Amino acid sequence: MKIVFHEDFNRTDYAADGASVPDRMEYIIEALVGNGGYDVVSPAPASSGDLSLAHTRTHIAGIAEDTKLFEMASLSAGGAILASGIAFKKEPAFACIRPPGHHASGDSSWGYCAFCNMGIALLKLREEGLIESAFVLDFDAHTGDGTLDVLSEWKEVRILNPMAGNNKDYLKEIENYIHDIRHVDIVGVSAGFDSYKKDMGKKLTTFDFYLIGRLMKKFTKKMGHERRFAILEGGYYLPDLGKNVLAFCQGFE
Ligand SMILES: [Zn+2]
Repeated sequence: MKIVFHEDFNRTDYAADGASVPDRMEYIIEALVGNGGYDVVSPAPASSGDLSLAHTRTHIAGIAEDTKLFEMASLSAGGAILASGIAFKKEPAFACIRPPGHHASGDSSWGYCAFCNMGIALLKLREEGLIESAFVLDFDAHTGDGTLDVLSEWKEVRILNPMAGNNKDYLKEIENYIHDIRHVDIVGVSAGFDSYKKDMGKKLTTFDFYLIGRLMKKFTKKMGHERRFAILEGGYYLPDLGKNVLAFCQGFE
């Protein structure tokens, strides 16, 4: 299991929103590296060619008008690319990145997002001829409309944004959905910890994050390839954010 992280993700000057607040990344890295003992690898920024896999020229140019945001968002997309590449070689990876990406569509973005990190990572693997299909689980409290948009024309990608109202049904919804999938080439998880019971979503417990991680591990084991990666999306209740991400990773590893 590798953690994808870059010192620059500690920066808070690229935006002023819930995802860019101070200490957010520090809490997560302290839990993953300090308590979890995981190794860290650092990404390079996504290239303009990588960004173009998911976004229009106009959207990329619009983000580029804000140099700091563009630098961070390109590095964030680069983190997702690195995590997916590690996963392709059958080692699980979690990318601790920001800004998040699941509200970034081809030609627009909102909700703290700039570029669609998950979409870019998967489209790049496809472009390189490495995968033909994928499953995306997005357990953020908010629907990943950007990921849905960016990957909408790729018929071999299945995306689940669970909608169940309580944690038991939520877990069951994921289990039922993946039960019918016989094979995908890789599993990508948009890990949004704002679905936590003390965060906006008011739904999942720390142990539920562990269980979701473990479900994805079992799913990729069942398919015989263990190709799985996760990337950070939302998650704003800082006191428990580190332990929630660690719980997920311990189920996922
Ligand atoms: Zn969210």
